[in-house]
Amino acid sequence: MTQTRPPIVAILGHVDHGKTTLLSAIRNTRMPKEAGNITQGIGAFSVPDAKGKRITFLDTPGHEAFSKMRRRGVDVADIAILVVAADDGVNVQTKEAIVHIHAAKTPMIVAINKMDLPTAQPDRVKQGLAENGVLVEGYGGDVVTVPVSATKGTGIDDLLEMIHLVAEMQELKADPKALFAGVIIESRLDPHRGPLATVLVKEGTLQKGMTIYASDTKGKVRSLVDANDTSIDAANPSTPVEVLGFTDVPPVGALVTTTSSGARVTVPTGMRKRTIKERLQGYDEKTLRFIIKTDVFGSVEALRESLVSRGTDEHPIEIIHAAPGPITESDIFLAKSTGARLLGFRVPKSTTLKRLADDEGVQVETGDIIYKLLEYVDALIKGVGTAQTVRGKATIVKVFRGTSVIAGVRVEHGVFRVHDTVQILQGVNVQGVTKIASMRHLKESIKSCAAPNECGLIFTSALDFKEGDAVQLT
Ligand code: GDP
Repeated sequence: MTQTRPPIVAILGHVDHGKTTLLSAIRNTRMPKEAGNITQGIGAFSVPDAKGKRITFLDTPGHEAFSKMRRRGVDVADIAILVVAADDGVNVQTKEAIVHIHAAKTPMIVAINKMDLPTAQPDRVKQGLAENGVLVEGYGGDVVTVPVSATKGTGIDDLLEMIHLVAEMQELKADPKALFAGVIIESRLDPHRGPLATVLVKEGTLQKGMTIYASDTKGKVRSLVDANDTSIDAANPSTPVEVLGFTDVPPVGALVTTTSSGARVTVPTGMRKRTIKERLQGYDEKTLRFIIKTDVFGSVEALRESLVSRGTDEHPIEIIHAAPGPITESDIFLAKSTGARLLGFRVPKSTTLKRLADDEGVQVETGDIIYKLLEYVDALIKGVGTAQTVRGKATIVKVFRGTSVIAGVRVEHGVFRVHDTVQILQGVNVQGVTKIASMRHLKESIKSCAAPNECGLIFTSALDFKEGDAVQLT
């Protein structure tokens, strides 16, 4: 039977605004420690509110962690708390956090922290939020704000009460008797004990002795330890537990299930999961979206303006996010979940990030000369696929549906090879990213196909495509 499950909460905000202090204040107020009992964090903890109803907090604050968790399309957090210091107001990372929370469509509560300071200006915070698209109560919207002081411990109970109110509106349910499913929220290799992973239970119950699968690894649960360092036999929905027994360290964000195929493909009920296509619903097919990163603050606005002015009626341009600083993992995940391309002006190049972008099917264009970047954008506007960075482009001319679905394509430029990663595009929207499993020419199996030939492509994952869609090698 499905039951109400505790909400899972993530904390985001600008550095030094008090995220870590607020997490410890919550933990210490609600779970006073016994003398000498020092617990080591396992990535999340669960506390009862004043009425005994539980809330689970992810204790790696920040939007990097938040977006990393969303990597596999699993939204772990039900509610996001945006911490803003009352003496500083909306700052660079506050804005970034807002973009991430909006992209994930996660309900938000604003905790206005450091209210104990004489320099606190909560109204300035609310004004700053309004200017960044977060309309709080009293400022034309209904986003809840709670004044708190993490160091003095004031406002904590109000915050927990608000979390429950927002959670009730979401009707969060799970069935402890259903087939078990969870998600990895932290993992590491302990030199003495071997692979350790914190699993957050989403459906069913995780029990000692169970065989579980996550990504490419599996394991038999040898021990379960909760956030209070107590050994337990079973964990219910929304409970974080440290699991000993994996044969390898599973990646953060991986699904945990009881079948090997489930770990890779199925997303259990009760777990909110949006496909790229669903996430892009509401975005039209024509708009070109960008995330801009630059070396200095001054170039952000210059690039933003030049870009927006290049938009046409046919292809308007939308800037999802623009900020100074290097391209980060979270920029890549944000680009993926919003169907945007990343533009970097005078930012450092990193091969690790390039690989991640390739894996996630995100296009990244960097350069030190502004007009070259703008040329790339112009090429995109003229016709998706003609930009030089696209290594190959093909158009789907016919779809064959048999034992496997074959996309009959005409290769317009470049060479397509088996195992290549490709993007499927409808208009300018990325429908999905997949790999070429095999290729055909008439009845024969082939390994590559160069322009201007036609061939059949079979992909490794089931994607929705139709005649007229484009297949791109990026
Ligand atoms: P984080 O980077 O967002 O995790 O911020 P921290 O929790 O590390 O806090 C940054 C600094 O702000 C620390 O020196 C804290 O002691 C201080 N701080 C946090 N919360 C409060 C508060 O409510 N009032 C005051 N006066 N200082 C606070």
